[in-house]
Amino acid sequence: MKLPSHKTKIVCTIGPSSSHPAIIEAMIKKGMNVARLNFSHGDLAQHALDIRNVRQAAARLNRVVGILIDLPGVKMRLGNIADGPVILRNGETVTLTTRNVVGTSTLIPVQYKQLGKSVSKGSIIFLSDGFIQLKVLKLAGSEIICRIIIGGPISSHKGLNLPGAKILVNAVTKKDLEFIDFGLRHGVNTFGISFVEKASDINRVREFARKKGKLINLVAKIERREALDNLDGILHAADAIMIARGDLGIEVPTEQVPIIQKKLIRKANVMGKPIITATQMLGSMTKNLRPTRAEVNDVANAILDGTDAVMLSEETAAGDYPIEALEMMVKIAVSAEHLSASGRLSHEIREEIRGRFVTGHMTIPDVISLNTVRAAEKLSAKYIITPTSSGSTARRISRLKPHCWILSFTHRDEVCRFLSFSYGMYPFKAPNQKSTQASEIMKNLKTLRLVQKGDTIIIAERRMSEKPGETDSMGVMTIE
Ligand code: PGA
Ligand code: MN
Repeated sequence: MKLPSHKTKIVCTIGPSSSHPAIIEAMIKKGMNVARLNFSHGDLAQHALDIRNVRQAAARLNRVVGILIDLPGVKMRLGNIADGPVILRNGETVTLTTRNVVGTSTLIPVQYKQLGKSVSKGSIIFLSDGFIQLKVLKLAGSEIICRIIIGGPISSHKGLNLPGAKILVNAVTKKDLEFIDFGLRHGVNTFGISFVEKASDINRVREFARKKGKLINLVAKIERREALDNLDGILHAADAIMIARGDLGIEVPTEQVPIIQKKLIRKANVMGKPIITATQMLGSMTKNLRPTRAEVNDVANAILDGTDAVMLSEETAAGDYPIEALEMMVKIAVSAEHLSASGRLSHEIREEIRGRFVTGHMTIPDVISLNTVRAAEKLSAKYIITPTSSGSTARRISRLKPHCWILSFTHRDEVCRFLSFSYGMYPFKAPNQKSTQASEIMKNLKTLRLVQKGDTIIIAERRMSEKPGETDSMGVMTIE
């Protein structure tokens, strides 16, 4: 078998442009690692079909492909607007209402019933991806009277953002919990939690799944100022992070997003939690065959920042060139990853972890993962092998972005699929626990013709400790 050309993971949103089984299969062949289903759109029957098609195509191609159900959360939207789009004109006034009316250019319904309590005179309200900007002039019961600062066309169900305002509903809604239930029943364990504010938003969902006896992987979408204020707690509680630049770029000044991206990636890397850089990565490819130079730079720079995964949204969900956008992503990844040789992609995080040695906070798994990667580089190892039951051994090595592939072996489906979010990881599903033993793995690699006589392999695993995730040993072997 042949390993992929790119180590950065590629998340593709499935939608009308890509839900055909032949396109899903082609996307897996071309390098899609995770299929994202956006539960803000589409109906459950279609999502169930997409799940089945991804699973079947992955099985046919013998690939591990993750599925991420992205939950809508408290995304605030407008209600219905008659004969839209209507035009909002600069300088004029418009009234937002929480009453259930059909909208016009002067009266626009809003689905968020607490809007009047979240804003006050002078508050700024953004509509439609931030393109339209209003300023609150007066509150009158269910009506919020606003001046149009920046106008433009507006139509039904467009998004609404209130930067810095208190949102008076839970980040995880009843509908989200229903969707999680649906996902779990369809064998999906990984969910994106939108508009996370604090760790307890994540913990609540985990508790919900625990009561059902399910293991669940939660991706905290960072897209509100509150999340940035509570970042450490959220990082501890979540299994992965998404830099949701679409909403984040409205909720905080857009020029701050690049710096936030760098900080978030660094923090997630140090903790060994996979991080996805999302939204508008190759946006112009929704309509064009070639991306802009700035977009290519953006994708490459996210990889140089140390992201585990890059994401395509409308490019693959609703664009004219889903396959071409994915192919472009692969090419940019391969090119940017050239820097990964000898740790140049992860130099700073290695330094940070080594720094813990001085402060006395270095753990046994830290020592083993640093030395595993170092040994792999010094010995020009062909692979790092990680038999893993929880996946954490494998992720701790992935964060250090070694020059070679990490081949992880686990017998648990949900652990295996979640490893498809981590940089440089090629997860294998082992049929049982016994086949995650080193001798069995070696046999397997020979059968797959992944190794040749003389190749050096490094193995990192938990041998002595009883505690899952407590990587405690490293072995080096040469293939006979
Ligand atoms: P969304 O999340 O596409 O679900 O809004 C991503 C983002 O906000 O960037
Ligand atoms: Mn969002």
